[in-house]
Amino acid sequence: MAQYAKSPLMGQMMSQPLLISGLIQHADRYFGDSEIVSRRVEGDIHRYTYRDCHMRARRMANALGKMGVKMGDRVATLAWNGYRHLELYYAISGSGAVMHTINPRLHPEQIAYIANHAEDQYLFFDMTFLPLVEAFAAHCTTVKGFVMMCDRDRMPPQSKVPNLMCYEDLIAENSDKYDWPVFDENSASSLCYTSGTTGNPKGALYSHRSTVLHSFASVMPDALNVSAQDVVLPVVPMFHVNAWGLPYSVPMVGAKMVFPGPALDGKSIYELFEQEKVTFSAGVPTVWLGLLTYVGQNNLKFSTFRRTVIGGSACPPAMMKTFRHQYGVDVVHAWGMTEMSPLGTAGTLQSKHADLPEEQKQAILEKQGHAIYGVDMKIVDDSGKELPWDGKTYGNLLVKGPWVIERYFKGEGGNVLQDGWFPTGDVATISPDGYMQITDRSKDVIKSGGEWIGTIDLENIAAGHPAVQQAACIGVFHPKWDERPLLVIVKKPDAEVSKEELIKFFDGKIAKWWTPDDVVFVDALPIGATGKVLKNRIREQFKEYKLPTA
Ligand code: ADP
Repeated sequence: MAQYAKSPLMGQMMSQPLLISGLIQHADRYFGDSEIVSRRVEGDIHRYTYRDCHMRARRMANALGKMGVKMGDRVATLAWNGYRHLELYYAISGSGAVMHTINPRLHPEQIAYIANHAEDQYLFFDMTFLPLVEAFAAHCTTVKGFVMMCDRDRMPPQSKVPNLMCYEDLIAENSDKYDWPVFDENSASSLCYTSGTTGNPKGALYSHRSTVLHSFASVMPDALNVSAQDVVLPVVPMFHVNAWGLPYSVPMVGAKMVFPGPALDGKSIYELFEQEKVTFSAGVPTVWLGLLTYVGQNNLKFSTFRRTVIGGSACPPAMMKTFRHQYGVDVVHAWGMTEMSPLGTAGTLQSKHADLPEEQKQAILEKQGHAIYGVDMKIVDDSGKELPWDGKTYGNLLVKGPWVIERYFKGEGGNVLQDGWFPTGDVATISPDGYMQITDRSKDVIKSGGEWIGTIDLENIAAGHPAVQQAACIGVFHPKWDERPLLVIVKKPDAEVSKEELIKFFDGKIAKWWTPDDVVFVDALPIGATGKVLKNRIREQFKEYKLPTA
């Protein structure tokens, strides 16, 4: 970690470390009766308050101490968004151990790899994951015990999971008298592995300081804009980059929190939105597709839902428009990554934009947005030379900031920084006034005759066609141009459109040579563990595809 010069005259403010335990203490003390509502894996709705959550987190912190968990030890979770998972966020990190969230949608072998790599000491899991845990438990070399997150009467009579404990027993057996320890704010707080679409997953190890700073920054009005007046439903899972920090930032502002559990289909989410008067939510585009389809088919409206943050992959402008114009829901397009805690940019307008015509405002909002304070970014060419911010020139996007990783856990991948900047693997443009737009992931970009074609633009245009539910664009082999775009389309239920019509739909919307060479229709796109379309899987599927232009 870098060392800095010390002034002969240091400031005289209290030196108080920024610790995660401070967030739940604050929520309890000032918003103690604010509600946390969870749809449980048990099937019912559970409700309690920040005060209850804090009390149970203290009991769990005592339990962890008795189990021999020490500062810096990693403790894993395999769980949906719910109140017990939130208690663990605070009990584990607050007591100085490291909260390691594992994505349950990964293959059992990959889960065991991650648990062993992290040297997890205990693993907590939602009871629906018992068969999954049974599949990999024997391969975990460091885990001393497994805790099933349920009541005693839900525990299996027998199981091949070694040293299986019951969550509610641990809560009941331990006292709520617990003083959160005070320690260096740079201590590790939580660990999250990237999905590892190429190579083994690598861990991003966050600190208390980085997490608290990220929370401050992310609730600001031009970022997520969350306040105590909101009712927040994080659709983004707590195992995917800490649900974009919401389990920390929502208690920080004291807003009511609603957890959807495992039910992420359109109907379940919609019902929870209405019952709990949700005002704000966050998730990846694929989840919203399900919600919008359900709401559209049943001719419904949202009574309280007013704003959502969409990120994780590019939000198609058509989706943004449907939310805004049909349902009165503002969409904030955000960009970030596991390595950035994850928030980097958010797309919001400024006072100078107030009088712009609607389409120009929309065009600004469709970009991934401006850096939130704390994050700095630049675009560079392959030799590392900085490129202009003209909104046209695209290059490799580099970032830095106090919640951006310096290196991966255990030094995996060696020195990943480039002159102190983290290379994101994304290709982007930046406008003269600092609005960043992702053209593509560098590994998805189509290289046609030595020039680049960004697939996100093509997908966004296709998704704007009334018959298109979902679009993915990949480069396939072309004897003359190396690669040319192939559009892979899922049609809306009962909608019809031909290849020719779709290709014609691009006329005038894009440089002629960017137009896809061909279209294929599929029933569904492959979706990965974090809800994103798996382009590498589609490329594999169409590896041998022969374009009509070839
Ligand atoms: P993983 O890399 O493990 O799939 P991350 O959530 O860390 O998961 O993914 C980060 C990547 O997701 C970014 O580097 C970028 O390619 C993509 N991404 C995130 N948000 C957006 C967005 N708003 N628009 C386009 N791409 C995005």
